[in-house]
Amino acid sequence: MSDNEFDVIFIGGGPGGYAGAIRTAQLGLKTLLIDDRQGDDGKAAPGGTCLNVGCIPSKALLDSSKHFHHIQHDYKEHGIDTDGVSIDVARMLERKRKVVKQLNAGLIQLFKANKIEFVNGRGKLFSERQVEITPHGGDAYTVSGKHVVLAAGSVPFSIPGIEVDNEHILDNVGALEIAEVPDRLGIIGAGVIGLEMGSVWGRLGAEVVILEALDSFLPAIDRDMARLAEREFKKQGLDIRMGCRVSGAEVSDGKVKLRYSDGKDEHEEQFDKLLVAVGRKAASEDLMADDAGVDLTERGQVAVDDHCRTTAENIWAIGDLVRGPMLAHKASEEGIAVAELIAGQAGHIGFDTIPWVIYTDPEIAWVGKTEAQLEEAGIEYRSGSFPFAATGRGLAMGNAVGQVKILADAETDAILGCQIIGAQASEFIGEVVVAMEFHGAAEDLARIVHAHPTLSEAVHEAALAVDKRAIHKTN
Ligand code: FAD
Ligand code: NAD
Repeated sequence: MSDNEFDVIFIGGGPGGYAGAIRTAQLGLKTLLIDDRQGDDGKAAPGGTCLNVGCIPSKALLDSSKHFHHIQHDYKEHGIDTDGVSIDVARMLERKRKVVKQLNAGLIQLFKANKIEFVNGRGKLFSERQVEITPHGGDAYTVSGKHVVLAAGSVPFSIPGIEVDNEHILDNVGALEIAEVPDRLGIIGAGVIGLEMGSVWGRLGAEVVILEALDSFLPAIDRDMARLAEREFKKQGLDIRMGCRVSGAEVSDGKVKLRYSDGKDEHEEQFDKLLVAVGRKAASEDLMADDAGVDLTERGQVAVDDHCRTTAENIWAIGDLVRGPMLAHKASEEGIAVAELIAGQAGHIGFDTIPWVIYTDPEIAWVGKTEAQLEEAGIEYRSGSFPFAATGRGLAMGNAVGQVKILADAETDAILGCQIIGAQASEFIGEVVVAMEFHGAAEDLARIVHAHPTLSEAVHEAALAVDKRAIHKTN
């Protein structure tokens, strides 16, 4: 094989592309990974949206702001006086940058250790699996692969008439770099980014107004759970307004003037910053030449089958670029599965058991089906729920908001879904995912010994409640 020929070429070095590349390299395949992202220091910044402007920096800010909020509002109850606490936003942002850079560097080490050829530049697919590479600061050249994996990720949707400048009107990139706490932060979209970033800046002292187009809050989860979450967020001061149609925004005198209608009246609001968080679309633009043979869907995603095969032979696509939830763990599992399929192994993705987490406080985590989905599918189910307020650990921690809800098949008792609102929901949704992957029943979870006192006892009790035999509540 010549220097310009590879077994596998990955275009895009986010959690999908880099995890897939590490796996093909582990399997002995000659692997090239191309990623165009650079940090503010001009150095290669592999890890994609997730590591650079998504999952990791947002969680760093969520954690910092959570400390600040708890110290101010919850420590007194524990007998700890904390008057005079202040926030240094510059230091908070610097800590976030350090976390990102440490992980960027760790990835580059992993590429070297696995003998992955890594190029920091743009890749474009042509016919016959030829890939043109334009390295940053270098001349374009062409390589070829027996297989090519498209892993270019996603970019934010924009709203016509509202121009993101990342100074006053922000997308996810700007929302992670606000230099001082704005007095008023407007957010368009009460989705995952809106709620997480609204929580960050709200905890630090901003007045946060979230304008959502839909009439129902968090449609991905059950109505009772969504109501519970909305109540908590409103208690925290997030001003969430549903059914809002935004018509335009302008920047003048350093402020953003936003116009919207709530279906009855027209309104105008003024904000110091405005975050547009109305979803993301596949980054399929300028990724392929017309003759590459890869079809796109109507929504601009790369069309793939259940095994991430595109319409062109030996060309695969994964992650945010294709159908399914836009989640880092979904992208990396697809990357790994494709690597194994290329190597002749049985790559598998458990699409039915992909967990979701919104890292607000309380956290919201879910997996599987909701009641509405089961009803629509005509599946009879039993439901069991249990509040954290009835757990000893929740009360001892002083963090007993929320509940666990488990849905199980009425006949077979197989777990069909679970939703958790509460502290550390992100951690113990994993237990339910494992149970579902092993085709477990609510009875299985109910018979597993859970350590006492832990928050995970609420999962145990919810599983018991499916059979109306929870111990610490009346069924
Ligand atoms: P990406 O991570 O987008 O990576 C693709 C990479 O390819 C990018 O670096 C891009 O610059 C590069 N690229 C694109 N085109 C080319 C080209 N032609 N040549 C070379 N390189 C190219 N998900 C979670 O699971 N948990 C979270 O907590 C979470 N938080 C998030 C918070 C925010 C603010 C955002 C915006 C997203 C968050 N996500 C989260 C979603 C997550 O970031 C994505 O689902 C994930 O990054 C998708 O991975 P990917 O590999 O498909 O694409
Ligand atoms: P989203 O789809 O979660 O939410 C967008 C919201 O904006 C929706 O509620 C939608 O109804 C609303 N909306 C759309 N157009 C609107 C308009 N014109 N006016 C008002 N509201 C409007 O999208 P997002 O929050 O931008 O996040 C993008 C994706 O990134 C998520 O879907 C998720 O896949 C991923 N993400 C994941 C995490 C996580 O896993 N914790 C965190 C952040 C982002």
